[in-house]
Amino acid sequence: MKIVRSIAELDLTGVVGLVPTMGALHDGHRSLFRVARAENDVLVASLFVNPAQFDQQADLAAYPRHEERDLEIAEDAGVDVLFAPAADEMYPPGFGTWIDVDLTGAEGTSRPGHFRGVATVCVKLFNIVQPRRAYFGQKDAQQAAVLRRVVRDLNLGIEIRVLPTIRDTDGLAISSRNVQLSPAERTEALALPRALAAGAETYTRGRDPVAATRTAFNGVTPDYVELVDLDGVTILAAALKVGNTRLIDNVLLKGDLS
Ligand code: AMP
Repeated sequence: MKIVRSIAELDLTGVVGLVPTMGALHDGHRSLFRVARAENDVLVASLFVNPAQFDQQADLAAYPRHEERDLEIAEDAGVDVLFAPAADEMYPPGFGTWIDVDLTGAEGTSRPGHFRGVATVCVKLFNIVQPRRAYFGQKDAQQAAVLRRVVRDLNLGIEIRVLPTIRDTDGLAISSRNVQLSPAERTEALALPRALAAGAETYTRGRDPVAATRTAFNGVTPDYVELVDLDGVTILAAALKVGNTRLIDNVLLKGDLS
């Protein structure tokens, strides 16, 4: 595996699959690597904790970083090139162009500027790496929808692949942020997948999934519970703050994101 820190050093040929990550790699990332490995000649993963998508400086500072371990996981997963630039390689002095995507609701409303940061860094990565396909997780379904819209609106000609959410055996969606949870907080966090599962079950019986999800939180107050329409696909999405850690999750109610 080649580790590349600068844009100038990247020299790729063949059909390229790109998996953008912020590191602290886990089984969710591994699942994206596995599929991307099988579908492309060259597998590029990016490892970049993107300052532009954090609305809180404290959140950016606390974001887990385990680069040595990440290199091993990426190598094991068959990544050919790991692109791990420093922040000023991606945002040099004078940087001032942003991709603003018209998407509100849930994360779009709860974290102003977040999707602008995500869309901008991903378009930069798409231009730098020139992949045929890019891989995202359903855990961040709105993010994937934002990128599908950017690709369509700006005619980027990249296939956006969305793969299922990988969960721990207790149901919690795996996230780099889960390491920040104390054992007690982790138990509290289980309210998120449980409430969403209750909401999805209620939906299959033709009743209001949002009300059912709120009730299933059982006195815990989520950041939001919302039905989100992603270009014809409906998800039930929720966010929950547990201690200092904000977790998001969603379940698919209608349509297919893949
Ligand atoms: P991150 O490093 O958290 O920015 O995530 C990088 C990519 O991995 C994003 O497309 C995420 O949606 C995806 N991802 C993160 N967690 C999971 C998970 N538990 N299952 C599937 N994909 C995931």
